[in-house]
Amino acid sequence: MRLGVDVGGTFVKFTDGENRWKERTPKTKEDLVSLISSVGKSLNVKSIGVAVAGLVNTKKGTVTESPNLKFLNGFPLKEELEKKLNVQVSIFNDATAAAYGEYKLGVGRGSSVFLCLTLGTGLGGGAVIEGAPLFGVSGTAMEVGHITVEVNGWPCHCGRKGCLEAYVSSYGLERFYFMETGECASSFEVIERAKNRETEALKSIDEMSDYLTVGIASLIHLFNPDVVAISGGIPASYPELLKTTEQKVKKRAFKQPASDFSLKLAELGEFSGAFGALLLTMYNSS
Ligand code: BGC
Ligand code: ZN
Repeated sequence: MRLGVDVGGTFVKFTDGENRWKERTPKTKEDLVSLISSVGKSLNVKSIGVAVAGLVNTKKGTVTESPNLKFLNGFPLKEELEKKLNVQVSIFNDATAAAYGEYKLGVGRGSSVFLCLTLGTGLGGGAVIEGAPLFGVSGTAMEVGHITVEVNGWPCHCGRKGCLEAYVSSYGLERFYFMETGECASSFEVIERAKNRETEALKSIDEMSDYLTVGIASLIHLFNPDVVAISGGIPASYPELLKTTEQKVKKRAFKQPASDFSLKLAELGEFSGAFGALLLTMYNSS
């Protein structure tokens, strides 16, 4: 029995391959280790794949830096879990795991150059090229959220300025809305208001989409993909975002790679990362 876990900003998602469930993300690393190890024990698993929202070192099994889960910075998650459970633990980036989950079981099936963006608290990216997940040398490939799109732009949760995530994320959307209205609203409220055709909410989503377009157009120039998937609460609850962004990308990017690709909504919902983490434990040991 294998367990896939995805540690996100708000929820930790689990799957044993058949069932899926989630728990609120604990506030400390000790509580996170207890949560994962108690699930591992109760299911008597033989290996665990853990996807984490942040930069990880897949070789060492550590979380190097997590812009949206700062309490995990520098944490040797693999070692701590293996101390508690006598099983093999592997650590992955959440968006790389989501890309692999979608490639094997979701919208990326049959794709030869598959990219997947996760748009939530942060902006993540993963790639599966001819069936092979792209890890980079140590596991940090495809940090799309932190490519600079404005030299002195908006502050990002990673501490830098002008990262794509500062514009394309729940907090980016909230900031666009604040710029439009002077009002603080959560990204969920902004989406609800956009569905009710409120002008400022629609404008804010359109502005976020302009930045998402720039990000996707750049990825298309780099990878020439056939499918780019987006997962996360914002695109799932507001699918118009995909349609308008795809149109904008087709106008902005080179014609040939632009006509080769389509932008699709991820199919495994919030569980792409958990399924991907489980499947990656098999990829790693194969
Ligand atoms: C992190 C990525 C992560 C993404 C989505 C970003 O802020 O840097 O590693 O994949 O958020 O969780
Ligand atoms: Zn950043």
